[in-house]
Amino acid sequence: MNKASKKAAMIFKGSTINAGRVVAQVCLFSAGRQKLVPEYTLENDDAIKQELERFHAARAECSEELARIAAEVEASIGKAEAEIFITQKHIMNDPKVVEAIALLITAERKNAEWAIAGVLSEFEEKMASLDNQYLRERSSDLGELRRRLLNRLTNEKIGFLCEGQAHCRRGANRVIVAEELTPNMIVNMKMNKVMGFVTEHGGITSHAAILARSLGVPAVSGVSGFMQYVACGDTVLINGDTGEVHLHPDDATVKTLIQVMPEEKEPEKIVMTPSGMELTANASSIEDVKQARAVNADGIGLFRTEILFVGAERLLSEDEQYDYYRDVVEAMGGKPVTIRMLDIGGDKPLPFLRQKKEANPFLGWRGARFLLGNHVIFNGQMRALGRLSKERKICILFPMVIDVAQMQTLLDRAREALSGVEHDSANIRYGAMFEVPSAFLQARDIMKKIDFSSIGTNDLIQYLFAMDRDNEMVSQEYNPDHPALWIFLRELSAVARELKKPLSICGEMAGREGMPQKLLDAKISSLSVAPRLIPRVRNEMIRYARSQKQTQR
Ligand code: PEP
Ligand code: MG
Repeated sequence: MNKASKKAAMIFKGSTINAGRVVAQVCLFSAGRQKLVPEYTLENDDAIKQELERFHAARAECSEELARIAAEVEASIGKAEAEIFITQKHIMNDPKVVEAIALLITAERKNAEWAIAGVLSEFEEKMASLDNQYLRERSSDLGELRRRLLNRLTNEKIGFLCEGQAHCRRGANRVIVAEELTPNMIVNMKMNKVMGFVTEHGGITSHAAILARSLGVPAVSGVSGFMQYVACGDTVLINGDTGEVHLHPDDATVKTLIQVMPEEKEPEKIVMTPSGMELTANASSIEDVKQARAVNADGIGLFRTEILFVGAERLLSEDEQYDYYRDVVEAMGGKPVTIRMLDIGGDKPLPFLRQKKEANPFLGWRGARFLLGNHVIFNGQMRALGRLSKERKICILFPMVIDVAQMQTLLDRAREALSGVEHDSANIRYGAMFEVPSAFLQARDIMKKIDFSSIGTNDLIQYLFAMDRDNEMVSQEYNPDHPALWIFLRELSAVARELKKPLSICGEMAGREGMPQKLLDAKISSLSVAPRLIPRVRNEMIRYARSQKQTQR
């Protein structure tokens, strides 16, 4: 860019989601929510003809786009996830759908947007009310399709606003700027090449933030109104250490903030976790698992299955899940893998399920409650895991357990679900997430019923301190050093040791600098963190083990 035309530098302040600094061009990402459907009458036959052409052109463009997305998603994520886009393409070209829309345009003399919205909404409603569960679930594809066609006709874009322009890289080697990071965005981006994130909303332990951290790139959230100042291709400098975001930074700022960064360290040597300690990885995809193996993680301490469903935008069959979980376990090469049952609700709704709107989703139909209320989903997932137990040892983790009675119900229902499928119960370990304060108060009785436990401090902190994990306005108060939290952690650790039951921690705080030492002091010696953090956390564990040896001498 010519120096004279440089835009004025601006500095914005948000909250740090992940530390580090980076300077790069921006890719703007928009959810492109279509609100009002334009409606107008076509004056003559020529106008009708043009409108039909407009509809067919939009349909052809969307078809092409869907085919391209499906191919990309299949290559980067998987076949099951790609299928949603192929289905949408088929619906869009279904002669019944096409004829109905064309007929409305011609007979009612109305514009294409109005006809598309009318026809697809009607089909969607009909499908949503069918008895056939599969077809009912497919109805959300029609909603997606309607949005896609309308966005195309009104030039409103979902995804990257710069898509199609020379500088657009769909996030590769760029900083993503968005209103909010949503799990759905993962299917739209070249995630492993994104250099950083700036968002207007979103808290420090939201699942999307966890995703950003697992990529290890600088990220700042809560930069309110940022999107109105920034255009695709603008340069931003993210200072994840301070939460500052510099828009159009001048050369001097870039020089000071970026060039003083320490040299990239050589990748640390693969070493072992000290004996008596365990360091496993949190993962949401096969990619994460591969990365965990590459850094010699001792296993997968938490595999979040919900991202698989969010990415596929539909429920996955028992067979599909079985294949996927088997790939996960195989990718870990025989090391222990803990798979968490779907943890849906709160900030992770499954939009295609058309769940009722809740005033307080974090206090509502989520975690274990959701699982117990959805037999089909629960049984399908349980049976897939049960089948896997015939070949491999598998640890099954239940999310958001609230008390001993609920724990018992979960176990009963798990065994019922497995009764109709070949499995090997000697290969199955059941565990509970401790992330709701009431469960800590019944810890002894809960632990007696299960084989292992894992502490989820992301939710525990939220429920203990009445502090929404997704709300950037309260994220300054997120404090894993709070003495009240440590009372919970130390007491749970004492109960686990007394009962000789394995206890680990998989909340984000375990990966924070200085925390491993504090957790080890509290005798919580099994930590599960994002794969990228493993070398550093392991170094902290090694230093701790050495210091313990020295004091013993
Ligand atoms: C937690 O709550 O700490 C946890 C690990 O689970 P999630 O972040 O997936 O809710
Ligand atoms: Mg949780």
